[in-house]
Amino acid sequence: MATGLIYHPDYLKHNLRVHPENAKRLTCIMRALEKEKIKEYLVNIPPRRATLEEIESVHQTDYINEVDSLCREGGGHLDADTYTSASSFQVALLAAGGVLAAVQAVIEGRVENALALVRPPGHHAEPGRGMGFCIFNNAAIAARYAQQEHGLKRVLIIDWDIHHGNGTQNVFYDDPSVLYVSFHQSPHYPGTGSTEEKGEGQGKGYNMNFPLPPGSGGQDYLNIFHKTLIPKALEFNPEIVLISAGFDGHREDPLAGMNLGEEDFARFTDLTVDIAEKTCQGRIVSVLEGGYNLEALPRCVLAHLRSLLLRRKER
Ligand SMILES: [Zn+2]
Repeated sequence: MATGLIYHPDYLKHNLRVHPENAKRLTCIMRALEKEKIKEYLVNIPPRRATLEEIESVHQTDYINEVDSLCREGGGHLDADTYTSASSFQVALLAAGGVLAAVQAVIEGRVENALALVRPPGHHAEPGRGMGFCIFNNAAIAARYAQQEHGLKRVLIIDWDIHHGNGTQNVFYDDPSVLYVSFHQSPHYPGTGSTEEKGEGQGKGYNMNFPLPPGSGGQDYLNIFHKTLIPKALEFNPEIVLISAGFDGHREDPLAGMNLGEEDFARFTDLTVDIAEKTCQGRIVSVLEGGYNLEALPRCVLAHLRSLLLRRKER
């Protein structure tokens, strides 16, 4: 079976040139995919706009309306870091809906796994507010969609963006049906993500944070994968795996201080494919989050994509 790719040129319409989270992030990735002739091995999955009801599975109606009206007025900032422009509301719906289209394609068996190259990113977005460059929480909306629309019971989200995914953690904090696992630099933005944050109520034990000091490298991550994450994930037995795939842990990234190379992201992907093959027929939907060095980012995405594509053929 194949690997799907989700992309749409409208993802470039949410843009602010002086901001690190700008449209060039996607154009440089797409240029690299063309150059490496990798697109011919991928199944193109067209995105759609998420419905308001789908966004409301995670976000408060008041907040959704606030973003809509702000964009109708031409755009503005949701917080100091998070801009919107006139088309950002529609682009954010298309970003979330792109991930939903990927989930649908994977669940229907049209592809085994898929990479959603969407913007704006999502994992910092909370139910009632956007923050940290994120408007709607694409991965969280996708997890809810897999459960509510397709009847899946257990969703594993692995978040290796270098920032803690506070939004995703909050959405599922009391929910044992979604196991959220985050690797992130600490101390760093947004300040959440300690090991003590394990979930609450029924959800206790289904939120796992791995804060790592600046300068951590691939082996530090692999130790956690092998000792803790893989056993826990196999025991949880997910029916689909979502990756919040941020590549800002790359050593050349301007917004963080980690020591990862593109080969490390390939390794993390291989291990995630192993988990998915052992539990859910290899079903993975990977969602682009951060990654701000325009030379390193395409290399990381290519390495990630090659592992999604090739890993299963090795066995
Ligand atoms: Zn990030």
